[in-house]
Amino acid sequence: MIDLSSDAKILHYITTDDPAEAEALYATARELREEHYHRDVYFRGLIEFTNYCKNDCYYCGIRRSNTKAERYRLSMEQILYCCQMGDMLGYRSFVLQGGEDPYFNDDRVVEMVAAIREKYPEHAITLSIGERRRESYERFFRAGANRYLLRHETANDEHYRKLHPASMSLAERKDCLFTLRDIGYQVGAGFMVGTPYQTPECLLEDLRFLQELNPHMVGIGPFIPQADTPLGDSPGGSLEQTLRMLALIRLLLPKVLLPATTALGTINSQGREMGLMAGANVVMPNLSPKAVRKLYALYDNKICTGDEAAECRMCMEGRIRNFGFLPDMGRGDSRVEVAAII
Ligand code: SF4
Repeated sequence: MIDLSSDAKILHYITTDDPAEAEALYATARELREEHYHRDVYFRGLIEFTNYCKNDCYYCGIRRSNTKAERYRLSMEQILYCCQMGDMLGYRSFVLQGGEDPYFNDDRVVEMVAAIREKYPEHAITLSIGERRRESYERFFRAGANRYLLRHETANDEHYRKLHPASMSLAERKDCLFTLRDIGYQVGAGFMVGTPYQTPECLLEDLRFLQELNPHMVGIGPFIPQADTPLGDSPGGSLEQTLRMLALIRLLLPKVLLPATTALGTINSQGREMGLMAGANVVMPNLSPKAVRKLYALYDNKICTGDEAAECRMCMEGRIRNFGFLPDMGRGDSRVEVAAII
């Protein structure tokens, strides 16, 4: 019996190094995932369409000040080609992710979303392009975007200020998340586990913030340092603590969509499968052109940068089936009841 009825009890599971306790946590999370989503694992096709970013987050390999990052932007034709490939491979859910690239102003994002929506009226379109004004989010929504991912990164203000320059604010980021939910998007928040200066209490705050927001999706992964950033010499986050956090999120937000992230697969060759065994139920294979995969380097040694989209799709399917899960290529809508589900 996992008791999470107080902060102290949750903190205990955030920090425990008892393998039996951790396994009990994973087993309970698995049961809950199966209750709501059976053994299905939803596939999202990820298109990383620009690695330009105007921000300077201290942990990020594509931060503005990293002059070693080789920059790219996909053209509209390339983006639509990725969607076409994805559709042929069976994907019904596209995630368009990029840095906060001023080139992709509101008009260009609307153009991109509308073009995809016209070709694929039934597919889910997710944007992950950072902080914008309410008006911008509304325009994207009207153009056909259904979902929006915006990791809050940390819910603790002091910790946030240690990871970001003074020009960025946690309050604004949280505001964006509530605005997106209010507009009617299916919203995804999330954070990294093991970032410098993070304490167990910070992680507890993350969980409490997620309970307050009640998002449809939560994306978490271990912190992995990128050598050309100010935090490049810091130690990375641990597999075990990331798995415990995945399980805790499943227990506290039972119906949430929870990806087993590429970062988890990067720190351990079976990290994503272990994530699924700890309560996750989504994977996001890459649909970006092979030529640019390595350049979207938020952190070092990222996996799956050398495979074609079809190879990624087949590889993930094989891995999932090996662990007794069932790939689901449908839209995979969240079962969280908050705002309108599109
Ligand atoms: S974390 Fe996001 S906002 Fe920050 S520098 Fe990287 S891409 Fe830009």
